[in-house]
Amino acid sequence: MFDPISFTDLCTKQLELSGVHEGETVAVLSTMNDRMDYADAFLAASRRLGATPFHVRLPEASTSLLGDAGAWTPGHTPLASNKPALDALKQADIVIDLMFLLFSREQLDIQASGTRMLLCVEPVDNLLRMFPTKDQRRRVETSEELIANAKTLRFANKAGSDLVYQRGDYGVMTEYGYTDIPGRWDHWPAGFLFTGGNDDGVDGKVVIDRGDIIITPFKKYVQDPVEVTIERGSIVDIRGGLDAELLRDYIADFNDEKAYGISHIGWGCNEKARWSGLQNDRRSIGMESRAFYGNVLFSTGPNTELGGQNDTGCHIDVPMRNCSVYLDDEPVLIDGEFVIDDLKAPRTHFAPPSLVGA
Ligand code: FE
Repeated sequence: MFDPISFTDLCTKQLELSGVHEGETVAVLSTMNDRMDYADAFLAASRRLGATPFHVRLPEASTSLLGDAGAWTPGHTPLASNKPALDALKQADIVIDLMFLLFSREQLDIQASGTRMLLCVEPVDNLLRMFPTKDQRRRVETSEELIANAKTLRFANKAGSDLVYQRGDYGVMTEYGYTDIPGRWDHWPAGFLFTGGNDDGVDGKVVIDRGDIIITPFKKYVQDPVEVTIERGSIVDIRGGLDAELLRDYIADFNDEKAYGISHIGWGCNEKARWSGLQNDRRSIGMESRAFYGNVLFSTGPNTELGGQNDTGCHIDVPMRNCSVYLDDEPVLIDGEFVIDDLKAPRTHFAPPSLVGA
């Protein structure tokens, strides 16, 4: 059920977390009739906080019949050919992106002008259920600091993964679900962070286990383990059952050496996101899967987000359960559980004693 009044309340809380205050300008960006109810709620919420809101509504429709976010090729959106709209967005203190500008040059342009940005395209239920908190931000930023100081990140699982990322060339990107820092981008809902290995500095093996999620591009739980061998930052072998065959075929179709590159690596901190969420609700673009608490998000393909040169369109995101992560050989996660007190979230879900840790 969608209740415009309580959704406006929720957007008001979001804008408060994002530091919107009297005298600021809030731009809402949408296309055609997509998410007009979201636009209305953000405009009303901005008013409540004493800010000056305006709405940029582009005349192009998303190419998906369902109006899926990012249905245009990621990074190539109608805003590229609409300079007056782009200029207007740069005038705002914050842009609420309801159309999916992620991976586009225009997004970087808006951020470079000092405007902060918040992407918001997920179903309202998810926005509510995974509403960000300051404590989640603290844990994401603590994680950021730990990774930033590490020269190696190694992750492993009992299925046979053992992969080492040499790092230093790329920074750390955080997503904690709101943004109050000029020029910074975030996504509501979120709750994870990532870095990238040096271009030729990722070696080892990843075994994507049964129940791990190939969220991009397949939105599915893996049934048969997939063994991926990586040398000097590139995939050199993929083997296994049907899921491996699907992945091999998907990547090969790009006919692009860069499609075999290794992209971001990090972990999820959102205790309100569920591993099983995708099974019950497939409308999401996958933020719940990427953010669930204690997952390791392994990814291949482009690294332009981190400032790298790999701009392939072949991006694969795989949230994995029960992994262990070591930074310079110091454990952070063991079998999917954080071992550093500052990263532990309060338990939010009841489980009978016999199922705790199951
Ligand atoms: Fe990704």
